[in-house]
Amino acid sequence: MVKFPEATERVLNKKVCMKCSATNPPRAKRCRRCGSKELRVKSKETKAKS
Ligand SMILES: [Zn+2]
Repeated sequence: MVKFPEATERVLNKKVCMKCSATNPPRAKRCRRCGSKELRVKSKETKAKS
């Protein structure tokens, strides 16, 4: 299995709009696409901690 730490980190640091499923920056308060505030962290919740 090949792992990409950077890629994983990216995924964990993104927010996904629950309305349009657009990915947003972790600091985004609103969806950049539809403006919805219903963003949630895209967390795989695996053992991705150092
Ligand atoms: Zn959206």
